[in-house]
Amino acid sequence: MNGNRRMYILVPAVALLMFLLPVASPAAVQAPSTAMPSVQPTPSPAGNTAALAKEAEGWLADLIRIDTTNPPGNEEATAKYIAALLTKEGLTPELLELAAGRSALVARLRSAAMPDPSRALLLVAHMDVVGVDKSKWTVDPFSATIKDGYMYGRGSVDDKGMLAANLAAFIALKRSNLRVNRDIIFLATADEEQGGEASIRMLIAKYWDKFAAGFALNEGGRVILKNGKIEYVAVQASEKVPVDVAVIARGPSGHASVPTKDNALVHLAAAVEKIGSYTAPVRFTTIVRRFFEQLAPLEDDELAKWIRSIDTPDRGEHAQRVISDTNPLWNSMLRDTFAPTMLSAGVRANVIPSEARAMIDVRLLPGDTIDVLLGELTKLVNDPSVRFEVQPDAGLAAPPSSLESDFYATITKAASEEFSGAPVLPFLSAGATDSAQLRLHNVQAYGVSPFPLTDEDSRRVHADDERIPLASFEKGVDFLARIVAEFAATR
Ligand SMILES: [Zn+2]
Repeated sequence: MNGNRRMYILVPAVALLMFLLPVASPAAVQAPSTAMPSVQPTPSPAGNTAALAKEAEGWLADLIRIDTTNPPGNEEATAKYIAALLTKEGLTPELLELAAGRSALVARLRSAAMPDPSRALLLVAHMDVVGVDKSKWTVDPFSATIKDGYMYGRGSVDDKGMLAANLAAFIALKRSNLRVNRDIIFLATADEEQGGEASIRMLIAKYWDKFAAGFALNEGGRVILKNGKIEYVAVQASEKVPVDVAVIARGPSGHASVPTKDNALVHLAAAVEKIGSYTAPVRFTTIVRRFFEQLAPLEDDELAKWIRSIDTPDRGEHAQRVISDTNPLWNSMLRDTFAPTMLSAGVRANVIPSEARAMIDVRLLPGDTIDVLLGELTKLVNDPSVRFEVQPDAGLAAPPSSLESDFYATITKAASEEFSGAPVLPFLSAGATDSAQLRLHNVQAYGVSPFPLTDEDSRRVHADDERIPLASFEKGVDFLARIVAEFAATR
């Protein structure tokens, strides 16, 4: 990768020295890329982070214990906790009020008296979490219980893990007293999960000059842990656009003892069935094409063969089907998707309702528009008693972040060093993050979730018994501190 070579030249003398000081034994350098903690990564410009990670583990536990279920969020309690922590380190954090009980927090490490915002690096994580169904958890979701090498808790991965790791990377840099060649800004956001009154959209509208930056590091990527190995590191550079669409069927209401053919509920059910089983055509974005190109050599021969055929005229269609069936996430990266999520109709069992509604969670590839798509769905449903209503607060399509930026090169290099040469793939996430809003403000924002996670643990995010392996948390702290120290030092 030519990006790597360029970064080596850019690393200034101080960082280079720190690189060389802890002389790694050849055995450590050449250790096979097997199970996580046993492999020695390339020495980091952030130094040894083991003690820091232990400290950050305590912060993570505290953060989990502050219940920021959104709604209502109550992020201010978390912001105050972080403010106290940063103040103790000699920093001057600032709370940015958005609504009652809801504040974001910003703090800055300055590079110069008159810093250049276009060079600044923003470390973003959100403080709110989604709700829990307590009865389904095996532990109290807000107790940060440690069990079998895991810390359990709502937000342990999404996104308080990242919040604690960002804090660690930021504080490490402050403690190091190293000169930073660009401003490093720590930002804890509110209302990410609901995107309402205290969301990043509001934060940008009200306080942009407090955290304006050219680059950002946020959630949204993944470190894939499979059979005890890091399979690859996915760095999110783009994301799909969420749009909620109501499907509404109307018909005459009447006595259920005399049914007619124009029952709204029956028409709605037919429409939902058609939409739910519809497969939109594949459209390649640059990032998705790159993702699959780099994924092919990592998969077994059979699957690799199909991945390589994904865009060929003769076998493309079959290949796309195989790939979509193999992994639902890959399917989501290739096309617009529609997930029916809610149904409502009727007041009594013996009354035919005059209206029936369903909610469809639509995820568009950036560049596709909902109007065109609704035209397609109208044709597909082909029923004049059914109409569509786009809900307010749809996500906005943002341009992708560049795969040629210095920061992307830094992340790629750091990931490869941290995870013993594991491949780094650009990624388009199916889920939405705060990064879309940042990208719309010309920020080159990248998503990493720095913690190596198995599929099984990833699936617990937003679900029951969310947990983070402590070894993965430590690794994630080291990875983030490495990225930040390295990029802070580049000119
Ligand atoms: Zn999140």
